[in-house]
Amino acid sequence: MESNLRKIIHIDMDAFYASVEQRDHVEYRGKPLIVGGSPHSRGVVATCSYEARRYGIHSAMPASMAHRLCPHAIFVKPRMDVYRQVSRDIMSICKAHTDLVEPLSLDEAFLDVTHHRRGMASGTLIAREIKQQIYEVTGLTASAGVSYNKLIAKIASDDHKPNGLTVITPEKAQAFLDAVPIGRFFGIGKVTEQKLSLLGVHTGSDLRRLSREQLIQLFSDRGRVFYDLVRGIDPRPVLPNRIRQSIGKETTFQVDMDDIDDMLSQLMLLAQTIEQQLRNRSVTGRVVVLKIKFANFQQITRRTTTHIPVQSAQDIYDYVQSLLNQVYIDTKVRLLGITVQKLESAQDPLVQMETGEQLTLF
Ligand SMILES: [Mg+2]
Repeated sequence: MESNLRKIIHIDMDAFYASVEQRDHVEYRGKPLIVGGSPHSRGVVATCSYEARRYGIHSAMPASMAHRLCPHAIFVKPRMDVYRQVSRDIMSICKAHTDLVEPLSLDEAFLDVTHHRRGMASGTLIAREIKQQIYEVTGLTASAGVSYNKLIAKIASDDHKPNGLTVITPEKAQAFLDAVPIGRFFGIGKVTEQKLSLLGVHTGSDLRRLSREQLIQLFSDRGRVFYDLVRGIDPRPVLPNRIRQSIGKETTFQVDMDDIDDMLSQLMLLAQTIEQQLRNRSVTGRVVVLKIKFANFQQITRRTTTHIPVQSAQDIYDYVQSLLNQVYIDTKVRLLGITVQKLESAQDPLVQMETGEQLTLF
């Protein structure tokens, strides 16, 4: 790999909950095992063993359907406290290699090992060592994908499951992505997949034949992202620790205020400070909150959910201005504050579109 490229590893445990159960219960080993739901309930499959997958059973499938597909499958209740403990062990193994560990769920994480803690240079060897350590500590297998960005590392980790290790170098990346079914790209969920499939687009190479203009026409801003993804372009950083959930700023006035224009110009100043902090952390927000404390110390907050993720002072200001307009102010104001909540990574439009798509699905 070129030295200026990042080294990203995606670690993903194999059939995590089911593997923990098979580890802890000899009698489940080698059997179709389903964690979550029960044969005649309305619940869904959380995870199932590889033996169960051979019957076509998969996560999120209704338990009753899983039971029809494989009547002798064993159903067990999830033991979340056990999975959480195992997850802590896995994450601490990862963190021994780099500070840049971004957990995606209990059994999945991105690592940026460009600057490895012990100076190991090969992403492949680092991934192999992590897999080995996970096995020694937990008795469970993980699959790993190694590449120069999150997108490719994640698709790669899924390529040779279970117990896989897939390395995609920049030279191999385009051919690899060309062969990937589009549903495996971040941000392409069921709805988008169907829409594209009607256009004869099934794989990365099909998708790459669409021009940027066509993609934007079909999917607006998401089209832009698809255009990059299918070419292996994904600058999203690995973000360690979940980001702080809100950013806020407030001002108490020397002299209580009763002029709306004065309040608005104070709010613009606050919005500018918040924009700076959002930018510094590369995040956007989904909820804007206005706080008003009156001269009599009575305090109110008003909040709004934004249509699009906000970061700019102007956008934040527009929202708080309309919130302020809805407040009946009959006494002087001593404090104004703005908080932006529901933060998400600004470089991660994919996460946003995944969420958006799920909302339309349900
Ligand atoms: Mg997994």
